[in-house]
Amino acid sequence: MESFADTVLYVKENSHAVRGCRHRTRSAHAGLARVRRWTPAGLLFAGRSARSEDPASSPDARGGRTCHGCSRRTSNRDLSQPRYAGYRCLARHGICANTTFDPEGRNYEGWYWYAADLQVPTLWDEARNAGLTTANMQWPVTAGAAIDFNVPQYWRAGTADDHKLLRLLSTPGLLELLERDTEALTDGADESIDGDQRRAKAAVRLLELKRPGFMTVYLASLDNVEHEHGPFSPEANATLEQIDALIGRLRAAAGGLAVVSVVSDHGFLKVDKEVHLLTAFRQHGLLDADETGHVKSWQATAWFSGATAAIRINPQAPSGTKDRVGGLLEELLKDANSGLARVLSGDEVKTIRGLPGSGFSG
Ligand SMILES: [Zn+2]
Repeated sequence: MESFADTVLYVKENSHAVRGCRHRTRSAHAGLARVRRWTPAGLLFAGRSARSEDPASSPDARGGRTCHGCSRRTSNRDLSQPRYAGYRCLARHGICANTTFDPEGRNYEGWYWYAADLQVPTLWDEARNAGLTTANMQWPVTAGAAIDFNVPQYWRAGTADDHKLLRLLSTPGLLELLERDTEALTDGADESIDGDQRRAKAAVRLLELKRPGFMTVYLASLDNVEHEHGPFSPEANATLEQIDALIGRLRAAAGGLAVVSVVSDHGFLKVDKEVHLLTAFRQHGLLDADETGHVKSWQATAWFSGATAAIRINPQAPSGTKDRVGGLLEELLKDANSGLARVLSGDEVKTIRGLPGSGFSG
């Protein structure tokens, strides 16, 4: 008797469904091509909940918080609060940070929302190629993705207009259909447990109505709470228990044979130090900002991705700027309190497929 997965539900909170689970997907859809009735066997969840103990990103070595989501918090307007995460960004898939490189804040803090930025096939592509019906509930980088039933992750100002935009970006009629019997998704970047509960309810409805063979769902609140309170904190543990209940509901909706995978895009460490790299740049005249932190001009700046920062030199900067930046980074490196663990040259960054266009990375 065939007992293959009809549904792979992939739940996460912030990364991109482009790596890691292709093998599982192939195994699942190999059976799906033969089993036409809906007997879901695959759910894959991802959340910002992993707790890693990577020594390379230890608090002592790095300083700052480990987070893919820190990019938003290290916007150019936030020079006093940059936070770092400690993992290597792989440039090969085209999505290296939460936000695109935008040193002067012209893109209204725009994230990598658009599937057009992806440079490799995704799990949805693989599933679709195998004949599976695909679905998504607010997974990152899904605006414009080739998903059969898609509610992408997208927001702008957090006003009621966000909902109109989300309807336009979703599969026509889908969001209206899902919200007919459930609470509406919240506008803006809602990373609260309430936002997750709404997402989960909509995802359950999507499972019930469309019975996809492969589905991704994004739950964000644990990451948010761990950034605020640290891993293993009472707040984080309480949130984790609530998310666990949501996953239980999703699993029940998908059916007993569903394969459920819970994944995370980054780990967490308890840290007690923040690195203010852009502040150092400003103090050394490498960028100029107004009193609100908005960058007015820059000769060099940093593009944050977790606990790493790619240093980019403005093509219009005076000659010698790169040497000045290198000198500053060397100076910081010698200071045991700077929080800077390592500085990579541009060539080294290329070798490890780090953020493109980096003069340095630290
Ligand atoms: Zn995070």
